[in-house]
Amino acid sequence: MSEPGQSVQEAIRDLVTACRILDHEGVVDALGHVSRRHPEDPDRYLLSCSRSPALVTEADIMEFDLDSTPIDQRGRSLYAERAIHGCIYRARPDVNAICHSHARPLIPFAATGLPLKPIWVMGAPIGDEVPIWDIREDFPHDDGMLIVNDTVGSSLAKRLGAGRVCLLAGHGAVIAEANIRRTVLTAISLMTNAELLMQSRLITATQGIQTLRYLTRGEITAMTELAFNPVTLERMWVYWATRAGCADRLIPLLSS
Ligand SMILES: [Zn+2]
Repeated sequence: MSEPGQSVQEAIRDLVTACRILDHEGVVDALGHVSRRHPEDPDRYLLSCSRSPALVTEADIMEFDLDSTPIDQRGRSLYAERAIHGCIYRARPDVNAICHSHARPLIPFAATGLPLKPIWVMGAPIGDEVPIWDIREDFPHDDGMLIVNDTVGSSLAKRLGAGRVCLLAGHGAVIAEANIRRTVLTAISLMTNAELLMQSRLITATQGIQTLRYLTRGEITAMTELAFNPVTLERMWVYWATRAGCADRLIPLLSS
């Protein structure tokens, strides 16, 4: 589902809130971006011009078609990796919001192949198995690492498959979900669970401990359902937005 009944203006306001939240929580920094599908035209999406998420305002949000061509560029600079968004929206009609991050805690997992699995109740939304996309597999040219066109973007979308999370080796991650609150929650959960798992791995390695307690598949399903409950999501959204200093941008989901 997408946020029900939102106007384009409200969708843009929520997108700016998402940018600020993801920056404040440390998921994105100078780089990284978040988009959402256009609420009135599923063949378009909304994404900022090339600007760090902490600095994005409503005026920066642009419309793109699913080839990631801007509808009205007006001389503005664009994110080099916007093809991520167009390719995933094209491949996944169920997806309405996408985050691309270079979150540092994720990097060791794709670099070593150590599975990134949930060990924390709020890590459940990342799922039991997080796939890894390595640009070298489909593009062994050794001439770049970014998703700068639809050929590379389609390769990534294929690896994401029907999932909500995919790690990008040596790079970061993409997170794709049915609405922007779910995408923001999953992006934060992915990064925080990675930090906790790394700490746990260090303890097991240095203390000679053989076991590590991962969530079971049943726990993952139940806790994801709870986290994606609109009441729970709204509570977290309001909290994150307030922490990020944009409580004035809040649009109550439940009253719309
Ligand atoms: Zn990137």
